[in-house]
Amino acid sequence: MNITRFYLLRDPEENQCIADMDEAAPYNFEKIRCPIERGHARARRNSPLNMVVPCDPAPDVIFTWMSECLIQEPVRQIFDSEGLTGFSALPARAKIKKTGVSIPVHELAVTGWGGMAPEATGIREVERCHACGHLVYSRLEAPEKLIDFHNWDGSDFFMIWPLPRFRFVTERVVEVCERHGVTGVAFSQNWPTSQRKGSGFTPGRLSHYMPRERAQLLGGALGID
Ligand SMILES: [Zn+2]
Repeated sequence: MNITRFYLLRDPEENQCIADMDEAAPYNFEKIRCPIERGHARARRNSPLNMVVPCDPAPDVIFTWMSECLIQEPVRQIFDSEGLTGFSALPARAKIKKTGVSIPVHELAVTGWGGMAPEATGIREVERCHACGHLVYSRLEAPEKLIDFHNWDGSDFFMIWPLPRFRFVTERVVEVCERHGVTGVAFSQNWPTSQRKGSGFTPGRLSHYMPRERAQLLGGALGID
């Protein structure tokens, strides 16, 4: 059996087609305020993405300024028919900026699980607010230690907490995308290097990134859902 190899799914270098919010139809945000610490205040999007795509034709995979990832409907069909696991295709809308023509898209939500970042990475929880659920983690020192086979659920797409915007994928995803000529996406084996100097992670909660029920299942016992 081949040892599974892992990649990060990301946008192409010098991506010129980053989608922006549709000013005419802004998202709904839920404001989360903390009764103890003002600095914990944050916003959580609670309506589907509604994006304007600056290029025509749009690539098959479209990234947004907030690092969300959209897939066009044919890509969802490819992922489904190839039996790729560990993602949900959430409702989303997008239109081409120049023509206003809408394109059928979904938000790609990673629901596969690679576990909590092992302590050997340098990432540890440094703050947990019991009033509002604000979480802070220390910075990443050893990215090569992020993936631990024992923590991985075997999904083709998976997330390691607290790095929800890093979309880890198996070699199968890379192979499927290459074989079908999926555009707008790149794969890298350069693991995330340390974040901006000295800073750690304040990822919010797991349910910001995947359906609530799934977040509860994965993160309920860990108190991160
Ligand atoms: Zn708080």
